[in-house]
Amino acid sequence: MTHVNPAPPRTAGASAPLRQRLAELRGAVHPPRPLDARALAALTANPGCRRRALLDGAGVDKTALARALGSPAPFGQSQFAFTRGHAFESRVHADGGAELVRMLRAATADGSPEPLAVEVPDLTADGPVGRAARTTLALEEADAAGPGVWTVLVHPMLELRVADAPVHLEPDALVVSPDGTRTVVEVKSFPILDGAADPAKVGAAVRQAAVYTLALEEPAAPGRVADVVLLVCPKDFSNLPTAAAVDLRRQRAAVRRQLTRLTRLADIAATLPPGVTFDVDLPGAELAEAVAQVPATYAPECLASCELAFHCRAAAREAGEVTVLGRAVRGELGSLGTLAEVLSAAHGGSCAGHGEGHDTDGEEDPAVAALRRAAGLRAEALAAARAQAGGPR
Ligand code: SF4
Repeated sequence: MTHVNPAPPRTAGASAPLRQRLAELRGAVHPPRPLDARALAALTANPGCRRRALLDGAGVDKTALARALGSPAPFGQSQFAFTRGHAFESRVHADGGAELVRMLRAATADGSPEPLAVEVPDLTADGPVGRAARTTLALEEADAAGPGVWTVLVHPMLELRVADAPVHLEPDALVVSPDGTRTVVEVKSFPILDGAADPAKVGAAVRQAAVYTLALEEPAAPGRVADVVLLVCPKDFSNLPTAAAVDLRRQRAAVRRQLTRLTRLADIAATLPPGVTFDVDLPGAELAEAVAQVPATYAPECLASCELAFHCRAAAREAGEVTVLGRAVRGELGSLGTLAEVLSAAHGGSCAGHGEGHDTDGEEDPAVAALRRAAGLRAEALAAARAQAGGPR
């Protein structure tokens, strides 16, 4: 339900040689795919992935790439879900913004006097640049509105400069309170059940909202931005809206950090041999070879945020990488990077960099020690179970 209009790719501000290199990587006949808030937010979900950073930076259409690789993206909405989502969003905005203001005040325990009026300005204009200018004007008008007047901006257009190029972003709504505070509203189709929602989906929504708040901090739209996003979702199993205010300060800091790292595309591109391209018109096998040249950091979270997730998961499984087990397990295993190393360590074998379960300083590796202890306990338990099964009844 978050709509994004075409905008110039963020490589527009890159140096000419880098722009040319990125165009080669994309395949010069293909127009660059502009970044959107979802893509920017997803980068922070897996900040270490150079593959994603490069493909997004080059403006490669990852959905088409995943299809060409034979692992289509798990994203997309059915017509039914789209229609239902549209009906839900219309309901959120149905009463001229008053319901949205009511939900925000309730979710943030806002103790200010009852609204005297709710303005919903018309933001229609030509193209993303015109719409961004119209949004800036509407924000200025909201700041100048009298006491007790709230303003709801439905599908405003914001501009964020990423690597020196403008990216146009369209949040679901912005609410401006009488004191000038701007709160980003995200309307989502996943439900809030008994006051709780899927943490992964909430996390993705908050990261996306964090991108919008960064756009609101740009000099073109100065103003106070709330530290929370108002998440509006269907309540339980109904199509009735309910809302929660979710703190986004941590995500905003992470997104800001990540965006500054995005400028290092030149370093990633420089590691690739000449001639490598991700032109989606190439045969799948050639593309797979090209994609494999860029290091990836697969994690199960990719399944919810990146179009290449099925391809990267298959590659990670084939290589026996422990990342397929999730970041928490990966963290526990220290420098054991593959399942073969883990099994070898558990059963007393030596593995790369670990000798006989000791690290390079001769200290016992805690991950190896824990694995050996777990393997020993499992063997004991199995032996006991076997003895019991074979004993007198
Ligand atoms: S799916 Fe692949 S390319 Fe996308 S973020 Fe995960 S590892 Fe990186």
